[in-house]
Amino acid sequence: MAARITMKTPLVEIDGDEMTRVLWVLVKELLILPRVDLKTEYYDLGLLNRDATGDAVTVESAKAIQRLGVGVKCATITSNAGRQVEYHLKKLYPSPNATIRAILDGTVFRKPIAVSNISPSVSTWKKPIIIGRHAYGDVYKNAELAVPGPGRAEILYTGANGEEIRTLIAEFSGPGIVQGIHNLDESIRNFARACFRYALDEKLPIWFAAKDTISKIYDGRFKELFNEVYKTEFREQCDAGGISYFYTLIDDAVARVVKGEGGFLWACKNYDGDVMSDMIASASGSLAMMTSVLVSPSGAIEYEAAHGTVQQHYYRWQRGEKTSTNPTALIFAWTGALAKRGELDRIPELRAFAKGLEQAVLQTIEAGEMTGDLARLAVPAPQKALDSREFIEAIARRL
Ligand code: NAP
Ligand code: MG
Repeated sequence: MAARITMKTPLVEIDGDEMTRVLWVLVKELLILPRVDLKTEYYDLGLLNRDATGDAVTVESAKAIQRLGVGVKCATITSNAGRQVEYHLKKLYPSPNATIRAILDGTVFRKPIAVSNISPSVSTWKKPIIIGRHAYGDVYKNAELAVPGPGRAEILYTGANGEEIRTLIAEFSGPGIVQGIHNLDESIRNFARACFRYALDEKLPIWFAAKDTISKIYDGRFKELFNEVYKTEFREQCDAGGISYFYTLIDDAVARVVKGEGGFLWACKNYDGDVMSDMIASASGSLAMMTSVLVSPSGAIEYEAAHGTVQQHYYRWQRGEKTSTNPTALIFAWTGALAKRGELDRIPELRAFAKGLEQAVLQTIEAGEMTGDLARLAVPAPQKALDSREFIEAIARRL
């Protein structure tokens, strides 16, 4: 066996839950460890350990990414009432992704992984559509309450100097609900900067969409700051690179996306990005065929899969059945993180290994060896769908 590649700085490795936790081990064992002398700082974000540590482990993992610069994260369960019973949890904690994103701030870029034998279900799409999702604030860091009965709900801001500004939300004639959300000018500017940098690097036109006709102050501020960052910091570079910037309303953007041929970066507010990235991923083939990268303004970067823990497959696996869960997005999370570490630590072999592993995955699928989610869509259809382990072994043979 050839000598294993040596690393310098450890990667922050964030383990997760259910089927993706099962695949995590296989990917490391069969694809990475034979070739890389892997150095990681390990954080177990499995639901039971989050519960045991009062969620401190989640905060520690985000701080480790800030300290070491590069992390790779498995999918994790966001706890809810059902999970509390299933896992005997002491308490419900917020989504680990929301906690990590709130600490790192930043923008999530989601890009479909294209293969030649699977066409997007939107027939006009010729090139991938990349989502740039603002990862701070809005409904993901909201305050909300159930209004018990008649009364008045207001927004009250108390300045550091004691100044008060208030505005009426509604006069309630009976029970209802109310929600408060926020964002920060600096976080919005950093979101815009991350998107323009990405568009310049990848030589892509950039679209930004919000709903400033309805939300004149909130979405209006997003539009204003995006324009300000474009004009004051990026316009010259964009002009020189032939990169166009286009603002439109979110509903108009959706209509244009479905009629267009793709090949642009679509900058989305937090919620729009959450919803639209699942739409783009599914229409591009499978949730497992999409990469996801969180870029923080400090330069720290976290690679993950865009999908969840694939709960139903996990229950089948627990019953001893073989599952055909697609590990592609998890593998690309690892290759993204290893390549970035290789770039920062100047280890060309590590970058080459990551590139080679990605090629091996694509070639395996294009040669007709794939999991069930893709087998349903591929042309020509493969003779059979592989289970997860067979697929990973087929990739290992090509490496
Ligand atoms: P999911 O894990 O994204 O899976 C939803 C469905 O998509 C699956 O049932 C499966 O469809 C298909 N799918 C997703 N990934 C696949 C893969 N790698 N290979 C093959 N098919 C795949 O969502 P979920 O099962 O509704 O949610 C499970 C848990 O994930 C939840 O507790 C949620 O909180 C969590 N979650 C975590 C993250 C994250 O950590 N980034 C993101 C989203 C959700 P078929 O059943 O048709 O095969
Ligand atoms: Mg989502």
